[in-house]
Amino acid sequence: MSRRRLGTSTTAIHGTPHRRADWTPVAPALFQSSTFVSPVGSDEEVLYSRYGNNPNQMAIAKKYALLEGSEDAIFTASGMGATALAHIAVLRPGDHLISSAWIYGGTQRLFDEELARFGIDVTYVTPDQPRLWRKSVRKATRAIFVETPTNPLLRVIDLDLIAHIAREFGLALLVDATFASPVNFRPLEHGADVVITSATKYLNGHSDVIAGAIAGTGSFVEEVNRLMRLWGQSIDPHAAWLVERGMCTLAVRMDRHNANGLAVARWAEAHAAVSRVHYPGLASHPDHALATKVLDGYGGMVGLELKAGARAVERALKRLKLVTHAPSLAGVESLISEPRLTSHRGIGPEGRAKIGIPDGFLRLSCGIEDADDIIADLEQALK
Ligand SMILES: *Cc1c(COP(=O)(O)O)cnc(C)c1O
Repeated sequence: MSRRRLGTSTTAIHGTPHRRADWTPVAPALFQSSTFVSPVGSDEEVLYSRYGNNPNQMAIAKKYALLEGSEDAIFTASGMGATALAHIAVLRPGDHLISSAWIYGGTQRLFDEELARFGIDVTYVTPDQPRLWRKSVRKATRAIFVETPTNPLLRVIDLDLIAHIAREFGLALLVDATFASPVNFRPLEHGADVVITSATKYLNGHSDVIAGAIAGTGSFVEEVNRLMRLWGQSIDPHAAWLVERGMCTLAVRMDRHNANGLAVARWAEAHAAVSRVHYPGLASHPDHALATKVLDGYGGMVGLELKAGARAVERALKRLKLVTHAPSLAGVESLISEPRLTSHRGIGPEGRAKIGIPDGFLRLSCGIEDADDIIADLEQALK
């Protein structure tokens, strides 16, 4: 078993399979303990759940590293915790960061409000002008941050091109690939140095945990672990245990999310009330060719623009029965939200229009229900 490379489903369930001892539980045990008995006189590192060395924390870190194809990984108490730690691990006061302009709102605020306090300058690059990556490099530039696929337009960014520039200038490339999960896209295979994911989303997949993860080299993860011990973002053992249970079904869930996303996107594209559908699996999407080349699945996220605008959106949302109006995404249940009131509220109607998110835009996270039922619910709501 050990020599063969295992499939994603097997890895997500077993990590590295090993024979189990007689009478031990088949399901992972939960070590809901802050601390552990230490051998008297031992100078070995103590086990303490803030240190990330609780067995539940270690188990998911190992599995996630295998899924991303990284040397090591570490979990944090939230996706934002992961983003923050990954950045303070590479940036020092006076450094410069180049970031994609198409990023999660919380990440943008972290950069603008918090990195600024440490004297770290951030330049935003619009990825549809790829020559700006190279042009934005300064003497003090230390890293590039990119999110792909993006929220809520599902743009897919050409990492190979950015990785080439990062290598040329000796910069670290950090990638938030939350919307893909390691089943659909593994950034390290495209030259990234660090992967960040909000495990709250596909990794856990059940809308019942807040968690984050970082994958990278052994030495990078060691530095993140050092910071985590000091800044205190470790994941709670019970949350880690739930993430491990969620990860067992990651590959089969992604198969269904991918199928449902594509089915709903195709249905919506043919619907008279819908003016535009944003889904990388559709030929009409600006990044369809790249997405087809680099992704193993297009995911469950679909952007919908309704012809009749914001009022029509509210009427439709009030009629939905199966699809739930709630922020967040990537759980087993379908969720829908309006970026104008959630992720992109801060930038106002003109700001949103400028980046292609008009009022009347809906972000749909297709769950793993039967596609026909999701479509039937949307159909009746749009009548
Ligand atoms: C949700 C999300 C985050 C933040 O994750 P939390 O677990 O909510 O802290 C970061 N990046 C992306 C792309 C997300 O969707």
